Amino acid sequence: MTRKDRTEGIFSRREVLDEGERRQYCALQLKELLTYAYRYSEDVKKRFDRAQFQVDKFKELADLKHIPILKKKELIFLQSMGPRLGGLLTKDLGELRRIFLSPGPIFDPEDRSDDYWGWTEGFYAAGFRSGDVAQITFNYHLAPAGLMFEEPLRNLNCAVIPAGPGSTNSQLEIMQKLRVTGYVGTPSYLMHLAQKAEEAGLNLRKDLYLEVAFVTGEKFSEKVRSSLEKKFDLIMRQGYGTADVGCIGYECYHKNGLHITNRAFVEICHPDTGIPLKDGEVGEIVITAFNKTYPLIRLATGDLSYIDRSPCPCGRSTPRLGNIVGRVDTTARIKGMFVYPHQVEQVMAHFEEVKRWQIEVTNPGGIDEMILNIEVSNFKREDELLHMFREKIKLRPILKVLTPGSLPPQIRPIEDKRIWD
Ligand SMILES: [Zn+2]
Repeated sequence: MTRKDRTEGIFSRREVLDEGERRQYCALQLKELLTYAYRYSEDVKKRFDRAQFQVDKFKELADLKHIPILKKKELIFLQSMGPRLGGLLTKDLGELRRIFLSPGPIFDPEDRSDDYWGWTEGFYAAGFRSGDVAQITFNYHLAPAGLMFEEPLRNLNCAVIPAGPGSTNSQLEIMQKLRVTGYVGTPSYLMHLAQKAEEAGLNLRKDLYLEVAFVTGEKFSEKVRSSLEKKFDLIMRQGYGTADVGCIGYECYHKNGLHITNRAFVEICHPDTGIPLKDGEVGEIVITAFNKTYPLIRLATGDLSYIDRSPCPCGRSTPRLGNIVGRVDTTARIKGMFVYPHQVEQVMAHFEEVKRWQIEVTNPGGIDEMILNIEVSNFKREDELLHMFREKIKLRPILKVLTPGSLPPQIRPIEDKRIWD
């Protein structure tokens, strides 16, 4: 197969709807979902009634914001509240296909519909094509990942080797003997496989046959991507999703962020209020998958990103999520302002001499105080740093210059030491 075969084409007509058609499609799907969920999910009925949200008043996408967001960690408690996973399901457990278990613990139901997790268009966009032999290195035991990624491959007429994680040597042997063309797993495990193969004297381009890789589950740098792409001579693209709802977004060949799935409505919201933010503003990813079996309406993922609607050369017209820039729980709200570690990192990138940094938040006398600790020897650019920090983060920190090695080895970017009585 040529590279061109893998990089052209679009799987579904829904990926190229124009903005008006897409809004109409989403509004229709949501109306149907909300009506159904209110009728058949006890939990949804309770939530809507409590918020005095009337389903028949839902007319357009903007009306969705009147439903309070559902924080992912609430699921742990809600699912334990009784049958049908605490009333979150609209079916009995016996009517499902599978039930998985994720950390939390949170149960992840899968119903019997085709492409339940919605990854097929994402695998196509990544470059998987009919006839591929794909090795899945995600876990098949209790967690959904392994089986979740079999479905798109079956839909695309590929063969699957359910390898699961671990046993690196036999993974490599299988890849070699079966001439595996597709890798599915984490980027770091692919890196590990590359290292082990090189140690064993294999030529990654001649002795192995990988042409395409679908990765997810962890952040990676463009440096890691291009290094792996070069080593194996393959295309590596990522997907983003959760075990609750499946696919949320996926990259195309042009690596312009994550095209948002057609099977869900995604909002970027203020993490505290759940109010939708403008395009380009960083906030929490809130997803409503069009899933009538397990209607998690306005599920707040805890991940931070932003929406980009500029056109993509691939021809898909779906809006995209920029990078996942961080987690809500590593973000602190200081003096009413959100401080995101990635923003601080962007400032620090201008000061190469700063080895490490950490923000410490305290509230002596009930007033927030932000201390910016930096490890650096012989620092001369304090004013410049404070100026840039204020420009970018809109807050004035107390700067503490420490000698390298003063901070503990393991630090959180933002250490919140505030005491709330
Ligand atoms: Zn694209």
